[in-house]
Amino acid sequence: MILGILGGGQLGWMLGIAARRLGIDCVFLDPATSCTADLVGERIRADYDDPDALAELARRCDVVTYEFENVPATAAASLAKTIPVRPGWNSLETSQDRLVEKNFLAGENVPVPPFHAVDDVASLKAAISEIGTPAILKTRRGGYDGKGQVVLRDPAAAADAIDAIGGRPAILESMVDFDLEVSVLVVRGVDGTTKAWPPIRNHHAEGILRRSECPAPGVSPRAGTAMVDHAVRIAEALDHVGVLTVEFFVIGDTVLANEIAPRVHNSGHLTIEFSETDQFENHVLAVTGHPLGSTAARHGHAIMLNAIGDSPPPTTLADARVATVDAMGIVAADGNPDDDAVYHGYRKTSRVARKVGHLTITDDSIDPVRADALAAIVPGAIPD
Ligand code: AMP
Repeated sequence: MILGILGGGQLGWMLGIAARRLGIDCVFLDPATSCTADLVGERIRADYDDPDALAELARRCDVVTYEFENVPATAAASLAKTIPVRPGWNSLETSQDRLVEKNFLAGENVPVPPFHAVDDVASLKAAISEIGTPAILKTRRGGYDGKGQVVLRDPAAAADAIDAIGGRPAILESMVDFDLEVSVLVVRGVDGTTKAWPPIRNHHAEGILRRSECPAPGVSPRAGTAMVDHAVRIAEALDHVGVLTVEFFVIGDTVLANEIAPRVHNSGHLTIEFSETDQFENHVLAVTGHPLGSTAARHGHAIMLNAIGDSPPPTTLADARVATVDAMGIVAADGNPDDDAVYHGYRKTSRVARKVGHLTITDDSIDPVRADALAAIVPGAIPD
């Protein structure tokens, strides 16, 4: 069994680690000069829509998956002619376009914030008169980590907001005064079996995920159950195969879906240490047609801190009694008997706003002082 993966970043790397543990080899396709996933598999270095590269990938692999949702439609279609692409086109098409996504969610009776299609200043003005301000203008395609988004507080700034997103097709979405942000990850197998991990609470700053925690503090059982039910229903409606992530805003017992990602997700990194089967292994099991592993927890509590821009120096990690993983994801012993804190460095060069690693701490109940001390040494992480 050989698994093809579009994208060779840190998600590809962690998918590759899980695949190799299962005895499955990976071939990646990515145009970059160097990729984290080069540590765990061979790579075809070419653009995602290069017909020769796609033909080679299809020839060398038994099934293809991806680590990002912006797979060009032409690439997905050309691969799908000769090889299964999982998750399939439904999942890609729905998550690539915020308008299609929001219409799909609303059609599946998943609550979403009020939204309105925007193509120009006139339709933005119409949208503002319908949903009011403050609101967020988001490009339909291509935005991530808060990119392609403008907060609109004053209706008079409509023309500037359209300029700020380069006049691209967009949606205007009501600004939600949420209590918390939560993601739910589910995995669905080829046979339609689904399993979910418990809801994960996420903290963002400047549109970038900084910290995730599970079990999600402050989420009522009712809201938690509703989000898992929605996520499972979405996966079924899309006939999704693999991991699917749904991000929600939570206000008391009310949940509103923000977006879906048809893939493994940054907020799910804590499942590596927290869960019996992590998101990467279950994604590989699902897309290769194997039975899914248990998503039950192995610990009482997990917190993940993203390193943004730069990794903590090795001596800082050692002084803080944090273990590190090697290129194959194997944890070096840190001799710390109190808890399990592990840093996963992505071997990426430093760059502003770039995710270069993450630290996960697991314990029966994590000492908040320890968590804050670790947040202080991880660049870009934030305390609770
Ligand atoms: P997105 O790219 O849609 O996931 O947005 C990135 C982040 O911006 C989210 O995680 C929220 O923190 C914030 N955000 C996005 N949409 C809204 C909204 N409608 N109301 C309030 N905050 C939002």
